[in-house]
Amino acid sequence: MRLSVVALLLVFFGCATDSKKETVEEQTLAANSSALNEKYEVVCFVYHRFGDSRYPSTNVSTKDFESHLSWLKANNYRVVTLSQALENQAGGSAHVRTAVITIDDGYKSFFENALPLLKKFGFQATLFINTETVGSDDYMDWSELERATAAGVEIGNHTHSHSYFLNIDETNRYATFEGEIKNSQQLIEKELGHKPKVFAYPYGEFDPEMKMIVKALGFKSAAAQNSGVINATTDLFELPRFPMSENYADMFEEKAKMHAMSVTAKQPESHMLPRKNSRPTLSLVIKKQKLITDQFNCFIQGSKCKLKVTPESDSTVRVTVQSESSIARARRTLYTITAPDNSGEWYWYSHLWINPAVSESCTKSNFRPSRYHYVTDSLWIRQNGK
Ligand SMILES: [Zn+2]
Repeated sequence: MRLSVVALLLVFFGCATDSKKETVEEQTLAANSSALNEKYEVVCFVYHRFGDSRYPSTNVSTKDFESHLSWLKANNYRVVTLSQALENQAGGSAHVRTAVITIDDGYKSFFENALPLLKKFGFQATLFINTETVGSDDYMDWSELERATAAGVEIGNHTHSHSYFLNIDETNRYATFEGEIKNSQQLIEKELGHKPKVFAYPYGEFDPEMKMIVKALGFKSAAAQNSGVINATTDLFELPRFPMSENYADMFEEKAKMHAMSVTAKQPESHMLPRKNSRPTLSLVIKKQKLITDQFNCFIQGSKCKLKVTPESDSTVRVTVQSESSIARARRTLYTITAPDNSGEWYWYSHLWINPAVSESCTKSNFRPSRYHYVTDSLWIRQNGK
């Protein structure tokens, strides 16, 4: 008991909080949101390794991956690249929904164990590569990337070094970030003959200026790592993706069937944990549509969650969420909000808080990177009797 208190104090002071500025004004989300049709939704997944059990928190077994693809096929999903999903919304009337498989980092196990399965099912995917490691150790080389491209895999930019850019001081952060993205674009164009149109933030971490840089460089969209579903109200430069690893492999179907909550305004816009507030309040304006508004729920890893729903207009409600205890000990924390509609379908939204003062090694030893998703998912599933 005493040991755990000491350990907790060490964690608290060793990984103390010092986050950067926050955006204080509430903003409507129209600026970066898409021109997607109102009823169109895209469920997007992020994978890393396949059939590589050395890294369970970022790996899925080949068998589980095949069962995910098989389920999508059996349920008549359109499975296309991220660019295609956002550009071409028609999808054909025969398809029920659109799903996107994204893979981050470009590990060899994708080429060896996942690409053959994608080919077997006739599905496309988007692979985000960090160019510095291409061809080394566990990573695909350029000829493998070329063959993946020929098989219908879209290549996206994931920076050159895959650094923790939020840990670079602000005077150098943006020039470094921009320089790396440009460098990767050039390398990919030189080796594969085209420039990526989509980007993914390493570790899903970014601040508002980094997002502006990605947009200014001409990318069509950028993928984050908070969970959720894409719809017309989604900011195209922070697209949500459901993580898939051994922990959640059996939750795939629930996620694939999930709907997007239509969030029309939020405060704060930024994901940076406020410097002087370790229990930040998130305020959302959400379209009621068919939602059962007294069944909103929120989940926060390692903490209880306070949620308040108040009428905002005839068609919207305001949902405020706050953690009951400090979230400053984790590098990344999700506030997740769910609600059912009157036909039993579920809706999901999450907001990521980032505290760059906590090192990933702190996060790893105390809160495994995947855990902040996993706890939410387990609680949700338990609560809803799935
Ligand atoms: Zn990555």
